Amino acid sequence: NGEIEFDNVSFSYDDRTTALNGVSFKVPKNSTVALVGESGGGKSTVLRLLYRFYDLGPGQGRILIDGKDIRSVTQKSLRNAIGVVPQDSVLFNTSIKYNIGYGKFGSSDEEIEAAAKSAQMHDRIVGFPQGYETIVGERGVRLSGGEKQRVAIARTLLKNPPILLLDEATSALDTSTERDIQNALQHLMLDRSSLVIAHRLSTIASADIILVLKDGQIIEQGSHKELIAKD
Ligand code: ADP
Ligand code: ADP
Repeated sequence: NGEIEFDNVSFSYDDRTTALNGVSFKVPKNSTVALVGESGGGKSTVLRLLYRFYDLGPGQGRILIDGKDIRSVTQKSLRNAIGVVPQDSVLFNTSIKYNIGYGKFGSSDEEIEAAAKSAQMHDRIVGFPQGYETIVGERGVRLSGGEKQRVAIARTLLKNPPILLLDEATSALDTSTERDIQNALQHLMLDRSSLVIAHRLSTIASADIILVLKDGQIIEQGSHKELIAKD
């Protein structure tokens, strides 16, 4: 499970703009699709529609997961099936532990700690004096962008969804943080169907399929090798 299909999807936020215009593609089970293209091309809209931030109306095409129209699936089961790691994670003003465990209600401390370690959090966050029991926000714990992203990664690892939506950070992280997070993200993408708004060359090169979006349409589609051969 985890196969995604966009079938002739068109979408507008308002009367003036067409965010997506007749977009069709498939994410085969356990593969990674990289969304690339200039700003405003429709990349975020693809992710928002799949997560049902917005619903497609009649005549706007269909989005299917494992052959089922997502409009016929309950929000709860959709959210269980999809993990999201946004560019800028917003955390609850509670402990880091709670923020990780929120992905899967009733997780044990051991499960949370294992997820934190897999998200490469052992060095900075689990190593805080009070450990990850530390309150985010209020008691002087200010997490950096990279640390927040690790919390989001750990949360998703714990939830273990078959589908992953990822918006790669464009913000400048220092090189070692960037490498740690990249490793954690690679780990997260293993054995899942992933749709990634890709900014890093390494992510684009390692994706199974690259979709180039421009003005709401797919203007190129193929493996890295195929797209290079076309140039
Ligand atoms: P990308 O992620 O590739 O930068 P988006 O999917 O964010 O592109 O945007 C596609 C189009 O939809 C753009 O023309 C953008 O201005 C428009 N758009 C995006 N979000 C909204 C919104 N919330 N309200 C109105 N228009 C939007
Ligand atoms: P980007 O991926 O371009 O950084 P964001 O995801 O931060 O964009 O949000 C851009 C626009 O998408 C917002 O202005 C808003 O209109 C819409 N949006 C984002 N999150 C939500 C949400 N939870 N509910 C409704 N609209 C949202």
